Amino acid sequence: MTSSAHGHPSAFPKPGHNHARCTSDALRRAEAVCASRKVRLTEIRRRVLEAVWQSHVPVGAYDILSQLNAGGGRTAPMQIYRALEFLMDNGLVHRIASLNAFIGCAHMGEDNHAAQFLICRSCGTTAELESAPLKRALIQAVAERGFTIDSQIVEISGFCPHCTPKGRT
Ligand SMILES: [Zn+2]
Ligand SMILES: [Zn+2]
Ligand SMILES: [Zn+2]
Repeated sequence: MTSSAHGHPSAFPKPGHNHARCTSDALRRAEAVCASRKVRLTEIRRRVLEAVWQSHVPVGAYDILSQLNAGGGRTAPMQIYRALEFLMDNGLVHRIASLNAFIGCAHMGEDNHAAQFLICRSCGTTAELESAPLKRALIQAVAERGFTIDSQIVEISGFCPHCTPKGRT
């Protein structure tokens, strides 16, 4: 058997899957990336990354803050933003601009990958699509217009395989 018809196995994980494993895998990979980049995954950075990985739904900075402070902690918003910046700079987390929220990178350690995001309007699950042909097509179309790409992040909204669109709004 070759790869499944649904593409990347973790694209849209089933509701009720063993998410603790996604989180522990992500933290393990993040630590490997940090080690190879010789940067430190400090306690606060690790906790923020863990909060981002609480689900496959992008999470806002203030949700992360209240989660970290739930047990009576006194983390300041600035610490969250600094940690998020570190995580983004090192390719561990992406910002979803249309939601002003953050999602764990599904391709940690792969430098310079272009990211396309599929955002479910019903459950909020956001999957990262890593389409090389799409990237090439975009680069070519942009180059034809004499434009140089600085960063390219595409956000696509719709419905994931586990959610059925209920009519049109
Ligand atoms: Zn999961
Ligand atoms: Zn990514
Ligand atoms: Zn969905």
